[in-house]
Parts: sequence; structure tokens; C-alpha cells
Amino acid sequence: MSTQTKTFKTEVSQLLDLVIHSLYSNKDIFLRELISNASDAIDRARFESVSKPEIQEPEGGWKIKLIPDAEKKTLTIIDNGIGMSADELETNIGTIANSGTKAFLKELKEADAKDRPELIGQFGVGFYASFMVAEKVELITRRAGEEQAWHWTSTGDGTYEIEEAERDTFGTTIILHLHTGEDTEDYTAEWKLRGIVKQYSDYIAFPVVMDVTRQEKDEEASKEGEDPVMKEVVKEETLNSMKAIWTRPKSEVTEEEYSAFYKGTFHDYEDPLTTIHWAAEGTTEFKGLLFLPKSAPHDLFYNDEVKGLHLYVKRVFIMNDCKELLPGYLRFVRGVIDSSDLSLNVSREILQNNPLIKRIGKNVVTKVLGTLKDMQEKEPETYENFWKEFGRVIKEGMHTDYANKEKISHLLRFESSKTEDGKTISLKDYLDRMQPDQKEIYYLTGESRAVVENSPLLEAFDARNLEVLFLTDTIDEWVIPALDTYEEKPLKGIHRGDVNLDSEEEKAEKESVRKDAEEKYEPVLAALKKSLGDKIKEVRFSSRLTESAAVLVADEHGIDANMERMMKAMGQVVPQVQRTLELNPKHPVLDKLKTMVEANADDPEITEYAELLRDQALLTEGGELENPARFAQRVSKLMAR
Ligand code: ADP
Repeated sequence: MSTQTKTFKTEVSQLLDLVIHSLYSNKDIFLRELISNASDAIDRARFESVSKPEIQEPEGGWKIKLIPDAEKKTLTIIDNGIGMSADELETNIGTIANSGTKAFLKELKEADAKDRPELIGQFGVGFYASFMVAEKVELITRRAGEEQAWHWTSTGDGTYEIEEAERDTFGTTIILHLHTGEDTEDYTAEWKLRGIVKQYSDYIAFPVVMDVTRQEKDEEASKEGEDPVMKEVVKEETLNSMKAIWTRPKSEVTEEEYSAFYKGTFHDYEDPLTTIHWAAEGTTEFKGLLFLPKSAPHDLFYNDEVKGLHLYVKRVFIMNDCKELLPGYLRFVRGVIDSSDLSLNVSREILQNNPLIKRIGKNVVTKVLGTLKDMQEKEPETYENFWKEFGRVIKEGMHTDYANKEKISHLLRFESSKTEDGKTISLKDYLDRMQPDQKEIYYLTGESRAVVENSPLLEAFDARNLEVLFLTDTIDEWVIPALDTYEEKPLKGIHRGDVNLDSEEEKAEKESVRKDAEEKYEPVLAALKKSLGDKIKEVRFSSRLTESAAVLVADEHGIDANMERMMKAMGQVVPQVQRTLELNPKHPVLDKLKTMVEANADDPEITEYAELLRDQALLTEGGELENPARFAQRVSKLMAR
């Protein structure tokens, strides 16, 4: 094959363009990215070497070598990892497989220049970071198990070249032709490279080596009693400590080390929110080092794949993104599980039904949920932030992890009629704050805090100082049925069925008010019912309202307004929903209607009023009017009177 020139896929070109033409404050991370790729490649080679005799540990051991050349202005990074075939080269380097790339590019464009390199790392498009420091990148690679090597070159201008090449052994060599110029860093300086490796790649499990020239005493040429004769010697030095951080005792690892490991391995630009490091003993022995990130990744909600949980067996990397160990609702957890019981030959297929893995997974979930419980109790502010970022996915667990439902229910948080905007309480907090004779946990669902906060349904609760939880997250409609009761207290939607807040005495009084109203306004109820027809289920008097004239309520198990809205949003066919129109028996509008009905029961104006009452009730619950223009006309007409 002669040299072929190919074009990058569009996303790659856009990305490269951004990488090259934006200014960065921290270009150093390119090396972290390349070393991390090299380390992954060695992990894979090491893993394949277990089952494939043709892949053997290279002479001199697995390693990553840096070769700076100050004269040629190049920095070469060599690894003896798995390498890439021509196809792999094309799919891995010529395209971005990551589905979140578009979202990422958008974010990158909008981000401050100073945040961009962190974002690049965060999104795992590490290799392209080379173009931050290099005007041309060459890559010579040979896949383990294959004879043919490949030479890839690009100046990051939208195309790359690929041609056949030779390489003695498998692995990858990356040659960066560094930018030159006054304000460029010297990435060939020994101290510089040492510093970057120490800072970002110290924990990498394989040696990152570099030839270092030192002055040493020349024993042969030196004579006793005279000044020693020195000679230059070149020695390969290892720059990183290689300590697999999770195998060290917790007491010996500093926050900084955890943080550097986390950021470097999981491509986050922030420190972790919390670190969980433990050694499980007993029936299963393994070491776990888990991190909860501070911020949710951009695709957390539409991608429920577990990402960033690496499985090791006795310090040998087995696989990343091990979904067998974490349920989907904990997909934001990052970290490493290192088992001493599993065999090195495990494959994904074997893992799926492996009882040992199941046990480890169970232990991991318990550990994470326990950590969150402690955080909620001991660091409420941290937990509140955590909840803002990840609460929605935790809620999924109420449905998907039946065994841990109760544990998860303690972690739930909601805003309420008594919290400030944006602040949340737990169900336990709610119980602690309940009125002495209160028997149920009240909640109201709706599109947003603004909608539920102003709902007429709250009037009776506010008047009695009863707290009502605000369930404004789409998923809440599905969480609550899964919960049903909390600490034996039933959960009650105040927009459903009947609510009974009154004492016997009050009930009797209200009942008589209602009876009176029913008698007095009987023709009004009949007229309204006739006017609204099948748009409503029935018209009745309410005991929930103190200020507003009317409200719509759902049946105990019927489709409420919020569900209807969501089903429509998801493109589902929503059956014609009939809700009950409840009227405030003390509202003056009733007298007005009564006069009208008595004057002429067939007055078309009565229909106008009836429609207005219903539309208002619909609007206050955040619903959509079938005919907003008609509503506006009616209101204007009324105003003109
Ligand atoms: P990421 O490492 O996040 O997947 P990169 O753009 O850095 O993104 O690399 C893309 C892919 O190219 C890697 O997933 C890997 O398959 C391959 N790759 C990169 N560097 C190497 C290397 N040194 N050896 C073998 N494969 C590599």
C-alpha cells in the first residue's frame, strides 16, 4: 500500500480546529493523556498475553519511554502495549466513537479558554491534545499478534496520511514535532518532563522511563589522592513511583494523591467529591477505591451505561466500565475494584453470571449507599450539592434496585412548601417536622416549583401549617408509587381524590356549609355541569379552597395533570382525562352565577363563565388550554364590562 491521504471525520476536524486555534493555560496535560493511553495499551497487551502465547512480555519489561530531542525539537513517546492495526488506527484516531462528542464540542466552544484543556481531558479525546504542543504528529504502531506496522501522520489540518511501515516489536511510537516560538514551553527539558510525570502520572502502574545523562566518577581514570575524573553516563531512569494507590493502606495515601489519581485516570478536572477506599475481607477479598465526582457528566441522563469502574485482578487490569459491578443508577461512581479471588482469564461473558462478581457488586453498592447516608447526616451541605447533581439517577434505583429500596428512600430529597427555593429536605426531616396529629406525608406534583408553589391546592395546607413536598422532577411520578409509605406513613398526593384535614367538629361544620351550598347553588352546579359536558367528570364543592374559586383534582389512581403533561411530552397517546372541578363554596362568583341562572338558565354567558372557571383551574396547575385565544377573548370581554 502506498501512502494514503484520508480526511478526518467532521467531528474530529472540528475538535482539532478548536484544540489548535484556542489558547490554553495548561498544555502540560497532553503528556498525561498520551501516557495514560500508553498505559491502557500495555494493560491490554498484558491481559492478552495471558491467553495468547504469541504475545509475550517484552524484554526489559512493560514500559513507556520518553525521548526528548532538544535539537530536532521532538518529543517521542514509546510504549510496548497492544498497538493498533490499520483498521483500529482509522476508527480510534480518525473518528471519535464517543457519542457525546457533539455535546462536548458545543460545550468546548462555549467554555472559557482557560477551562478548555480540562474539558478536553474530561471528555477523553486525549490523543488530540497532542496538537496543543505539536505542529505535526507521527504515530508508528504495530498491533500485537500482527507483522505489519503502520505510519500515521497529521498536521492537524483536517487530513492524515497512513502508510505501511516497519516496527521491530509490537507497540506504539508517537513523535511530536513540537511548536517552536518564543512563548512555547520547552517540552524537551528534563526537569519539565519529570515534573509533569510526577504531577499527573505518578500512579501509572508501568514505569515511565527516560534516558538521563549524569556526571559520574570515572573509577578507571581517577587516581588516588587526585581530583576524581568525571565521565558522562546515560542511564534509564524511572520517573514515576508506580504505586497502585488502591493497594496501599488508606492511612498512607494523601488527599493529593487520591485526587491526582482520580483526575488522571477518570479525566475529571475537579477533585472528587468524596473518596471511598476499603479492603473487603471474609468470603470475598478485594480492594476498592471509589470516587464520587463533584459534577454530573453532560450525558448522565440519556446514557445509563456504567462508565469508569475498572476491574483488576491482582493488580492486572481486566476491563474498564465493568457494568457487572454497579447498577445503572450508580453509573456516576468511578474507581477501581481489585479482586484477589477471580482468575485472570475472566471475560465479560463469564462475569455476567459469576457469583463472586455478584457478591463484590453487592458489597460495592452497600458501600456507596452507606457513604451517601453518612454524608447526608454529617455533611448536609455536601450532600445537598451531590443531590443536585445526581439525585435524579439515584431515584431510578427506587424502581430498579428493589432489594435496596429502603436504603435509597432515606437518600431521597425534595423541596417543599416550607423550604427555600432550591433547598431540599429528606423524608426523615419531613417526619420530624410533621404536625403532632398528622398521619400522612403530603406531596404535590407539577412542572416546576413556581407552578406548585402557587397552586390553590396548597391553600388548606398552608392554613393548617402542614408541609407539602414539591415533586417537580419528571421521574418523581414513578418514584412515589414505588415508595407508597415511608416509615409506615402513607404518601398522599394532595391533588388526588379526597383530602381530609379537618377535625370532626370542623368536618361537621364544613359539611353543613357544603350542604347549604349544594342546596343554595344546586341550579348553578347543574348549569356548570351542563355547560362543561364531558370536559370534566363532575362539579362539586370543595373543602380544600380558601382563596381561589376553583381547582381541578384527579382521582386517587387516575392520570393527574403532571403525568398527562409528561406522557404528551414523550409522544404517548393520552386518553381523554376527566378530572373533577371543585368549587370554593364561599367564593362570591357563585352568587353572581346564581343570579344569572335564575334570570335565564339558558343564558349563553353562563357557558362563558363555566369555561373560564375551568380554564383558570387548568392554568393554575400548569396545564395547557385547548384554545388560549378563546380564553383571552373571554377575559377581555369580561374586562370591558
Ligand atoms: P481515549 O483514550 O479517551 O479513548 P484517545 O483519543 O486518547 O481517547 O484515544 C482513542 C483510542 O485510540 C483509544 O481508546 C485507543 O483505542 C487508541 N489508542 C490511543 N493511544 C494508543 C496507544 N498508545 N496504543 C494503542 N492504542 C491507542
